[in-house]
Amino acid sequence: TKNSENEAKSNILVTVRVRPLNNKEKQYHEQENDELFPEVDTFNNLGQNNNTLGKKIINVIDRNILVFDPLNTNNKQLLFRIPSHNNRRNKDIRYAFDHVFDENSTQQEVFENTTKFLIDDVLNGYNATVFAYGATGCGKTYTITGTAEDPGIIPRTMDELFKKIEEYKDNKIIESSLSYLEVYNETIRDLLAPDNKTLTPLNLREDSNGVIVSGLSEHHPNNVEDVIKLLIKGNNNRTKAATEANIVSSRSHAVLQLRIKQREREANITTDYTSAVLSIIDLAGSERASVSKNQGERLVEGANINRSLLALGNCINALCTNSYHIPYRDSKLTRLLKFSLGGNCKVVMITNVSPSSLHYEETHNTLKYANRAKNI
Ligand code: ADP
Ligand code: MG
Repeated sequence: TKNSENEAKSNILVTVRVRPLNNKEKQYHEQENDELFPEVDTFNNLGQNNNTLGKKIINVIDRNILVFDPLNTNNKQLLFRIPSHNNRRNKDIRYAFDHVFDENSTQQEVFENTTKFLIDDVLNGYNATVFAYGATGCGKTYTITGTAEDPGIIPRTMDELFKKIEEYKDNKIIESSLSYLEVYNETIRDLLAPDNKTLTPLNLREDSNGVIVSGLSEHHPNNVEDVIKLLIKGNNNRTKAATEANIVSSRSHAVLQLRIKQREREANITTDYTSAVLSIIDLAGSERASVSKNQGERLVEGANINRSLLALGNCINALCTNSYHIPYRDSKLTRLLKFSLGGNCKVVMITNVSPSSLHYEETHNTLKYANRAKNI
């Protein structure tokens, strides 16, 4: 590939997607709140019922800017209950990102503005990485995998790739293969292994071609339906665990890698293939272990998840500030992505958040993490 770990220049695009309110949040927002804030009516004289427990705490201004915990348009405090702060002022923090997708954004819109343009880069030999970051329930899997009715980034990427292979077939030979693994508790497992081998831990090694996961199965889907079947199988194999904070909390990082080899048809038989990898990653939930009050085993897992997310954040920040040392070795995830983050690689971060005040602290932390990942 054309990526070199020595050229520590970052090409990171940081985006945020706000998902629609879910039913639980809607119910919470509609519950009345007289006992908690008897003063709300005098404070919030908006001529509408603001006397409720929950509020939206994200205001998308345009395709680049959002405000977290905004003042209302009359510059009055929007009061709502936040677990742990009853008396508070609005933070009213303005954040700028490369792209902000509001609640009405479509899967296609997200795909076109985060991943579609990476396919040509990968065909030209450059590694690229897309990852979804955010707390459990905020829309990472919806964005990356999607549903059968409304597919997410992976099926749309494969669809586009199949079109390119068809479009270029007279001039180029393009071969693609796909693998899907999880990093759980600093252990790598093949999500698409034959049934009797799904629990086997796999080892990482590095050679002149990059990072290799020994024994990882490779797949060659021929159409989008095949891709969706593989994703459903893989996602069912992901490790999930119930925690106090969330009924189903995904604690694993799911990494899909699409390897594309490509060569001019007319070229001399000795001409090398151009080869590169597009990694599309559904990260583990970013909620902190301390929030979930976990004990024993779960706490260790939480610490490991934080280690991988922390390591990823540290690598990205080191790349953003042109540091000499990029701490890839700090976690399995960053070792795996060693040749897919720095150099000439393009990296796209999709930050998933809920707009509800129910997740006030989590959303604030998520936006801070995303903001730190921006180029300085
Ligand atoms: P995560 O993977 O971050 O834990 P999910 O992707 O599973 O979160 O999303 C949680 C729930 O919210 C799912 O039922 C999902 O279908 C729904 N959801 C997430 N994002 C959207 C969206 N943009 N539009 C509609 N539903 C969404
Ligand atoms: Mg998920």
